[in-house]
Amino acid sequence: MKPYILIVEDEAPLITLLRYNLEKAGFEVGEAVDGEEALFMVRERRPDLVVLDWMLPSLSGIEVCRRIRRLPETKNLPVIMLTARGEEADRIRGLDNGADDYVVKPFSPSELIARVRAVLRRLRPALSEEVVAYRDIKMDLAAHRVTREGQPIHLGPTEFRLLRHLLEHPGRVFSREQLLDTVWGQNVYLESRTVDVHVRRLRQALNAGDRPDLIRTVRSAGYSLDASDA
Ligand code: CA
Repeated sequence: MKPYILIVEDEAPLITLLRYNLEKAGFEVGEAVDGEEALFMVRERRPDLVVLDWMLPSLSGIEVCRRIRRLPETKNLPVIMLTARGEEADRIRGLDNGADDYVVKPFSPSELIARVRAVLRRLRPALSEEVVAYRDIKMDLAAHRVTREGQPIHLGPTEFRLLRHLLEHPGRVFSREQLLDTVWGQNVYLESRTVDVHVRRLRQALNAGDRPDLIRTVRSAGYSLDASDA
């Protein structure tokens, strides 16, 4: 699966340039020309990272970043701000408002791509690697294979996505609603009990043969991949 990058920029030539170079570098690219459209697109389909221009018509990039940080389901979304302002004070203001990194215009596409890769490596390490693992669970993303203690584990597509999400954020507790949003997608309306059903199936597959349960149920909060009780 290619990482999905959303570019928010009102200058068409810059969008074209960035799209061309990001696609060549192996990313999937979406584009929004203003802040409102960006916020709508972020809710529709969660990007892996947002490249956000500071100077946008109507809503400024800073305001868009603030709103992304305010929503519980996007508050950890990686954001790189683009700006013509090179002043240290502005850089700090951008980072204060939740940007993860900052690229000053004019920049070369390869410089931006290097920053995108660095932020993804830091914040979404699983995206830049072929294998994600936790304890004795290994997931080969390219081959779509899961093993535990070296033994193959067969998972349905939903359980696979669920496990992948948990493996990408070990130790973090996700509510059923958050899991529905990220694993099932924004446009599906399902009862939160659906999550319990798939977690149960995932546990059955992973724990076959009496292996310790690495998925922790956090009362009235949700689930996390966490070996602390195991
Ligand atoms: Ca602009």
